[in-house]
Amino acid sequence: MSQSYLDSENNRHRSFELPGARPHYNPDRPGQVEHISLNISLDIPNQSYHGTCAIRLKPIRDGIDRLTLDAVNLSIQSVQVDDTPQGFDYDGEQLHIQAPPTQVGKSIIIAIAYSVEKPQRGIYFIAPDKHYPNKPTQVWTQGEDEDSRFWFPCFDYPGQLATSEIRVRVPKPLLAISNGQLIHTEEDGEFKTYHWSQEQVHPTYLMTLAVGDFAEIQDEWKGKPVTYYVQKGREEDAHRSMGKTPRMIEFFSDKYGYPYPFPKYAQVCVDDFIFGGMENTSTTLLTDRCLLDERASLDNRGTESLVAHELAHQWFGDLVVIKHWSHAWIKEGMASYSEVMWTEYEYGSEDAAYYRLLEARNYLTEDSSRYRRPIVTHVYREAIELYDRHLYEKGSCVYHMLRAELGDDLFWQAIHTFVQDNAHKTVETVDLLRAIEKATGRNLLFVFDQYVYRGGHPDFKVAYSWDGESKLAKVTVTQTQVKEGNNGSSSDLFDLKIPIAFGYSQGEASKSDIKFDLKTSRVRISEREQSFYFPLEEKPLFVSFDTGNHHLKTVSLEYPLPELKAQLESDPDPISRIYAAEALAKKGGLEAVKALCAALKSDRCWGVRVEVAKQLAEVKLDQAFDGLVAGLQDGDALVRRSVVESLANIKTLKSYKALKPLAEKGDASYYVEAAAIRALGGIVAANLDEKPKAEKVLKLLKSVLEERSGWNEVVRSGAIAGLSRLKNSPSALTLILEYTKLGVPQALRLSAIRALGTVSTGQTPVNLELILARLEELARETFFLTQVSTVAALGQMETIKAMGILRSLADQTPDGRVRRMAEEAIQRVQKSAGTDPAVKQMREELDQLKQSNQELKSRLEDLEAKSSGK
Ligand SMILES: [Zn+2]
Repeated sequence: MSQSYLDSENNRHRSFELPGARPHYNPDRPGQVEHISLNISLDIPNQSYHGTCAIRLKPIRDGIDRLTLDAVNLSIQSVQVDDTPQGFDYDGEQLHIQAPPTQVGKSIIIAIAYSVEKPQRGIYFIAPDKHYPNKPTQVWTQGEDEDSRFWFPCFDYPGQLATSEIRVRVPKPLLAISNGQLIHTEEDGEFKTYHWSQEQVHPTYLMTLAVGDFAEIQDEWKGKPVTYYVQKGREEDAHRSMGKTPRMIEFFSDKYGYPYPFPKYAQVCVDDFIFGGMENTSTTLLTDRCLLDERASLDNRGTESLVAHELAHQWFGDLVVIKHWSHAWIKEGMASYSEVMWTEYEYGSEDAAYYRLLEARNYLTEDSSRYRRPIVTHVYREAIELYDRHLYEKGSCVYHMLRAELGDDLFWQAIHTFVQDNAHKTVETVDLLRAIEKATGRNLLFVFDQYVYRGGHPDFKVAYSWDGESKLAKVTVTQTQVKEGNNGSSSDLFDLKIPIAFGYSQGEASKSDIKFDLKTSRVRISEREQSFYFPLEEKPLFVSFDTGNHHLKTVSLEYPLPELKAQLESDPDPISRIYAAEALAKKGGLEAVKALCAALKSDRCWGVRVEVAKQLAEVKLDQAFDGLVAGLQDGDALVRRSVVESLANIKTLKSYKALKPLAEKGDASYYVEAAAIRALGGIVAANLDEKPKAEKVLKLLKSVLEERSGWNEVVRSGAIAGLSRLKNSPSALTLILEYTKLGVPQALRLSAIRALGTVSTGQTPVNLELILARLEELARETFFLTQVSTVAALGQMETIKAMGILRSLADQTPDGRVRRMAEEAIQRVQKSAGTDPAVKQMREELDQLKQSNQELKSRLEDLEAKSSGK
């Protein structure tokens, strides 16, 4: 094992490449796969099936007499080539076939008879058991990235595109859904055979099968069937959650310049799905956890985004296919950017800007806390490791930068060219660059070089001052990012043309409809620190750096207070207003708090109000608290949730009093209610002298657990999270442990498992042993989501004993994602378990000092305000 992995802790960024990572290439091609035909018969009670897989291959050269297919843990009964039995050699991972020497131009058919028993990956059998007697009976598949080989033998990489068909025999009354069109059904006693045919070429990882006793809801787009399959009884939730699909098909057909390419679009909501959604060609599978009831639809936009994301893949991923996983950002970046586009279309440009900021932040968090990598890399251990925030969210931000650089018209022309030229073909990153060049004449390699082929982004510090005598605005821009050792670039500096605008009020109209003029210039920023001087006729109200905020970056504004206030109040771009709010909160003081409170009350964009609430919690002044409490009345549930979470961070008895009624009586939104319930646990835990209150909270949390089960267990999970903060309460721990048992509704149980991590720190040795013993048991369960929660809990622990359990989980899990998470958790535990108790005590004392300092500051601000008559 390489030591350099652990040593790299010293660098600012850890390495993406784990020990064992190596370059990955597509294999050599014996020929072109033309068609795949599966014919299988399911034995659901025994979680097994048998059948044949026939592959028609057009050889690429003469004389190939040995073929190698991917096939994992299958039982291979026989192999024929063109109806003649052939010898074969099977090692459990690859199937080597001896064949008569090939002749160019003469296709062969390889037919493999095989069976599968209790498969661990690729195809999943879901069934009721004694703990969950109401679980539905379902069978579904998940091919991406390299798991199709677990359910049928194939050349399993995305560089091969073929047509396909699946004939599947299932017991009545189950439905079987697959890619393409249903061309035939046949009944035979208690069984029914479904025959689906996919006539457009696609890769193996997009072949799918979903079987269950589903309700089938028919919709349509321009005569093509649009179908939603859900568990019976959830028809209304299906409409609520997926009903916008036909409008989305229309929207994306138009945006991408290519009408929806497949004969139907089906979405099947399945139980225990291990992703949010999977864009199998014309047949997306979704987790049934995305189905919304009426109350959840109030402030859950996640489902709508998920539906848009998977649909966008029908073009980006399924019609235009990536040749190799290293280029997966082409599809995942666009699918994530399509969420932004749909938001823009459906909810307006301010919502879209905020959505884009949240995506950027997801990437920035991964970059600062996990690792930094180029978006395109073929060095990894398992392809699934690439499916991270760089691939999705940073990829989305890159698409947005391309759009900003080209302007809307040229950007869409380039996208149309890319889709039309590459429909039913495979692509690499360079093909996108070429399509842009072909359609617009622009060479955008500089964007790809700086944001795609190397890691990182610019961190800007921007200072501004106004010289009234010479009427000069001075803007100083510093790139503060730290030089990285080996991110594939000689310099860490970015070279970009960034617009800077100055805002002026216009006209004498009443304050509410003041118009703002933006005077914009573009400057080239390429050095560590540069100052720009702008001669202006009069003093601007505010300055807007990177107008429109199209560049992926971090920025900290060092402007004088009046300019920040004016920007928060007047900048037309919500992201600029948010940056101004951050800078104001950093300045602190009563003036800043007043401006933030005003914005929380009246900014027109809910996203800005959400962010302003967070910033108010950062300002340690009592006046900020009062402004926040007023925000509890906001009409938008997402803002209320942010206010509650901000109050939860303040952890005083005043915030306790503000949130208690909400926790007791509830809110229109599940999420707001859950946040308030969760907050109470944290607040009483921080005020240890308030024993009676802790008892009251414990009682409340208990009653929530008994009485408030509901959509996806959001509210009861809030109670579990609240309990996890009550570390000194033996009954809190007992309750959490109780809810980790089998039989507890899955979403709630997963929350309880995670909560074991939070509650574990600061426990007595006896309790710690109890928690470890429980997690050790849970680590043996093989279900993906249980493993993820168990790893999350163990990763929060501060005892080296957690590392052993994580190690064995990493070694045994069949899932590459869990393996990676477990290994990263081991590092975290190693770090935190090493923390010296003396350092911990000093931290606590520091927190107390901060608290009393805040009270003093608040009193001082009040006195100052009174004496200056404000
Ligand atoms: Zn995706």
